[in-house]
Amino acid sequence: MDYKDLANLIFPNVKPVEYYEEKYPKRNLKEGAIVTRYAPSPTGFVHIGGLYQSLIAKKLANQTEGVFFLRVEDTDQKREVENGVAGIVKALRDFNMLPDEGMIDEENEIGNYGPYKQSLRKEIYQAYAKDLIEKHLAYPCFDSPEELDQMRKKQEEAKVRPGYYGVWATWREKPLDEVIEKIKNGDSYIIRLKSMGREDKKIKHHDLIKGNVDFPENDQDIVIIKSDGLPTYHFAHAIDDHLMGTTLVIRGDEWLSSVPLHLQLFQTLGFKAPKYAHLAPIMKEENGNKRKLSKRKDPESAVEFYAKEGIPDEAVKEYLLNIANSNFEQWRKANKNAKLEEFNLQLNKMGVSGALFDMIKLLDISKTVISKYTKEEVYEETIKWANSYDKDLKQLLEKDKDYTLCVLGIERGNEKPRKDIAKWSDVKENIEYMYDDVYFSKEHTYEFQKIQDKEEIKKIISLYLEKYFNIEDDKQTWFDKIKDLAEELGYAREVKMYKQEPEKYKGHVGDVSTVIRIALTARANTPDMYEIMQVLGENSVVKRLKEIKL
Ligand code: GLU
Repeated sequence: MDYKDLANLIFPNVKPVEYYEEKYPKRNLKEGAIVTRYAPSPTGFVHIGGLYQSLIAKKLANQTEGVFFLRVEDTDQKREVENGVAGIVKALRDFNMLPDEGMIDEENEIGNYGPYKQSLRKEIYQAYAKDLIEKHLAYPCFDSPEELDQMRKKQEEAKVRPGYYGVWATWREKPLDEVIEKIKNGDSYIIRLKSMGREDKKIKHHDLIKGNVDFPENDQDIVIIKSDGLPTYHFAHAIDDHLMGTTLVIRGDEWLSSVPLHLQLFQTLGFKAPKYAHLAPIMKEENGNKRKLSKRKDPESAVEFYAKEGIPDEAVKEYLLNIANSNFEQWRKANKNAKLEEFNLQLNKMGVSGALFDMIKLLDISKTVISKYTKEEVYEETIKWANSYDKDLKQLLEKDKDYTLCVLGIERGNEKPRKDIAKWSDVKENIEYMYDDVYFSKEHTYEFQKIQDKEEIKKIISLYLEKYFNIEDDKQTWFDKIKDLAEELGYAREVKMYKQEPEKYKGHVGDVSTVIRIALTARANTPDMYEIMQVLGENSVVKRLKEIKL
C-alpha cells in the first residue's frame, strides 16, 4: 500500500488532473489582457462593495480586452439562500454590468471555462485533492470536533499559537495502514493540506493596491476538502482561478491575510499564481468614527437600495469610480460629456484605506447625470422605475404622454439644464403640480415670501391677468411685461435699481415674479416660469391664478 492506493481509496472515481488541464486550455488573449472575476457567495444580499468590486474588475478587463466572469461560490451550503444567484445576476444586470462569462441566471451560464458554480465542480476539486494525496501533499484527518476542541484547550494552556500545524498535526504522518483501516471502517474525515511552510520564514507579496507586504509563511495544515466532499474557499480559489485563467484577483481586503496560504496552494498545486489587488472597503462615518458600511445598519449598503430609490446605474457607477480613483473628478471636469468607458481606471491610483461613502455627493452626481438625459430618456427611465415602485406615478406619466414629455422637457436639452432630479423617486414631487387634475384636487398652502400682504398679492395677480398676461408672448416680451407690472405697482423693474435706492421702491421685480410663481404652482422653487406657463397653457394659467384661495 502506498499513497496512490490511499488516494484511489478516497476518490475512486475522479478523473486525472490532466483531463482538466486539457479541457480548460490557456486563454488565447492579447498580451496584457486581464482576466478577472467577481466571485460572490449567493447569500441573498448584494453589498454595494460587491458592485464596486465588479465595476473595477469589469472595467480593467474591458480596458485590456480581457475577460470578466462571474463565479458563484456556493460551497458553504449553510450560508446559501434560494434564488441567491438570480439576485446577484439581477444586481449586475440592473447596473449594466453583466459578465462576459459565467452565471446568467439561477441555472444557466455562458463561457467555456465552466461550470461557474462551485457546487457543480466537486469532482474537479476532488481530482486535484487526489493528486495531492498521491504525492503526500495532502492527507485525510479523522479528528472529531471534540478532539480538535481539546487540542485548542491544550494550546491555550501551553500559550502557543492555535491551529493544526507541526507537532499538533496528529494525522499528518500517521502510518498508512492505520489511515486506510479507518477509511475502510467508514470513519468520517476531512482532507488537509500538508503544509511545507514555516512560521519563522517570511514571504513577500506585492499587492497591486496595498503595495509590498510581508507575511510569515503559512504552516497550518488547512482543510481543503470538507466532510461533505466540497472544497473550502481557499482550495476552490486556487483551482478555479487556475483553470479559469484568472490573471488578476480583485477582492476585498479582508482576504489580504490569506495571501500566504493562497500563494502556497498555487505553488503546491504546481500553478502559476495570479496577481492580487485587495480593495479597501467602503466606509461610513458615525460619531466621528469610521466603520464599514453595514448590512444591518445602513440601507445604502444593499445594491437593491439604489434601484428602489431610482438612482440611475450610471450615477452610482460614476460615484464609485470617484471613490476608486482620485483623478476621476479632474477627468470628469475636463470631459464633461464623456462616457464612463472612456475613463482609464488605474489600480495604482486606488486608495489603500477605505473611502467614506457620501450620499450627498452621490445624489449630486446623479443630478448632473440626469440633467444630461433627454426628456424621452427621463420619461422611459421614470416609467421603468414607477412600474415597480409607484403605480400612481406611472399612471400620471402615461395618461397624456405628449403632455408629460413637455413637462419633462422644461429646461432640458439646453446649455444649463435643470438639475432638480436626483432619482426617479423625486420625479413625482417635481412634476405633479403641472397636472391640473392633481393640482386642483389638492388644498395648497401658499407660502409667500417677501410680499405677504394678501391685498397686495391679489392686486399683483389681477393686474397681471388683466393687463400683462398673454400666452402668445415670446420670452423677452413676457419678461418685459412682468417688469412693467412691477413698475406700475411701485416695485423696481431691475434688482440693481432697487439695490441702489431701496427707499424709492416697495421691492423689486423678483419679489413680484415670485408672487406669480407661487400663485401659479404653490411652490417657491420651480424651473423657468415662462416655460411652465407655455406648457400649462392659457386656460390653466388663468384658472390657477383666478381660483387661488388665499
Ligand atoms: N467568495 C468570496 C467572497 O465572498 C470571494 C473572494 C474572492 O474574490 O476570492 O468574498
